Amino acid sequence: MLHPDRLFPSDPTQRDIARRLYAEVGSLPIISPHGHTDPSWFAKNEAFPNPASLFVVPDHYAFRMLYSQGVTMESLGVPRKDGGAVESDPRKIWRLLAQNWHLFRGTPTRMWLDHAFETVFGVTERLSGASADRIFDQIDACLQKPEFLPRALFERFNIELLATTESPLDTLEHHRAIRESGWTGRVITAFRPDPVVDPEFEGFQANVETLGALTGENTSTWAGYLAALRDRRRYFKEVGGATSTDHGHATATTADLSDADAERLFEKALRGTVTAAEAEIFRGQMLTEMAKMSLDDGLVMQIHPGSFRNHNPGVFERFGRDKGADIPTGTEYVRALKPLLDRVGNERGLTIILFTLDETSYARELAPLAGHYPALRVGPAWWFHDSPEGMRRYREMITETAGFYNTVGFNDDTRAFCSIPARHDVARRVDCAFLARLVAEHRLEEDEAAELAVDLAYTLAKKAYRL
Ligand SMILES: [Zn+2]
Repeated sequence: MLHPDRLFPSDPTQRDIARRLYAEVGSLPIISPHGHTDPSWFAKNEAFPNPASLFVVPDHYAFRMLYSQGVTMESLGVPRKDGGAVESDPRKIWRLLAQNWHLFRGTPTRMWLDHAFETVFGVTERLSGASADRIFDQIDACLQKPEFLPRALFERFNIELLATTESPLDTLEHHRAIRESGWTGRVITAFRPDPVVDPEFEGFQANVETLGALTGENTSTWAGYLAALRDRRRYFKEVGGATSTDHGHATATTADLSDADAERLFEKALRGTVTAAEAEIFRGQMLTEMAKMSLDDGLVMQIHPGSFRNHNPGVFERFGRDKGADIPTGTEYVRALKPLLDRVGNERGLTIILFTLDETSYARELAPLAGHYPALRVGPAWWFHDSPEGMRRYREMITETAGFYNTVGFNDDTRAFCSIPARHDVARRVDCAFLARLVAEHRLEEDEAAELAVDLAYTLAKKAYRL
């Protein structure tokens, strides 16, 4: 199923160059500095239960497509918030994926899954209604073997480092267990404070109270709240090995209020009386507070704005967050980031990595900003754009203004563990194809392109995330 020249240019000159570049990077170790795998997999090292629970139930890319064509989430085994009945037979769930495999033609999901089926489980026939049971049995049999346990796969995938993402309210027990187990796989956390810095997050007030209980700080005061956040960041560094924070705000809005104004807004947020506009300013203020803390503790900041989360209220009510109902919005950066940049934009010791779901901002806003401010870098093509065409557009629109070295390598940003090698392989191939064109057009010497290919696949991520 996997052609050795996949994603390379069809022009023979460029294809030859791309092959030579890829030969330098195809087997480099994987640095995965941002993602959403479950640290308990590596702490407990228990077998993944079955093909459906590995490939369908947790993968919103898979079930959002099926849902869009009328397959119900219940029939795909996605758990309901109220504990109501959903399909529990993994074979039936798998058959639904297989019977609808044509829906994924031309999508990155198809590429990632084919790559995992073949390279991880040795599947050599295309998934379909006819092959569904055979492939289910083949993968299911593999999952019972010790070489398919999470830690063994981690090693086989040649992962040098994997970052997960946790809320400040997480105890990091799994990260602690991984460290204490003596296993040498490097799994670290990232500090994602949305539940305690976004007044519109479910349970905000209770979350801030829990933050106080965890840290022994009085989080009903502004000063105590900030002290608690500082304390949790320190804990995430010490116990979880965190080197970064992550911020999933609806917009890139930042603010730089006086202490007195920030305190007043915080008190309103705690009382639950902030308007939507005030909640937006508060989130913006918290980005600036986080940047100031990063100046002290060295955590790299990631800003992932522009997702309209839980767009479908019916799905949110029945199934909760992260169920494929998040939709990109237009996102403005130049004005939105100004309060933050006025404060910290010239700091050379600070790294803020900007992501976007709005491709129109690449050339107009993100590349010019990152091509000027020492504190800024552009994160890789993200989520809906983490695809061959999306990555190609990213390089085309970013490089001429920001160069390669204001970007940070690749993030797989995934919950789907077995797709990690596939996603990094796609990124490496697309980058080699892009570089091959520059070489063929005599805009770059091939030895420089070879050096760049290694930087984009490996070195830049380590450097940007301080790994
Ligand atoms: Zn993410």
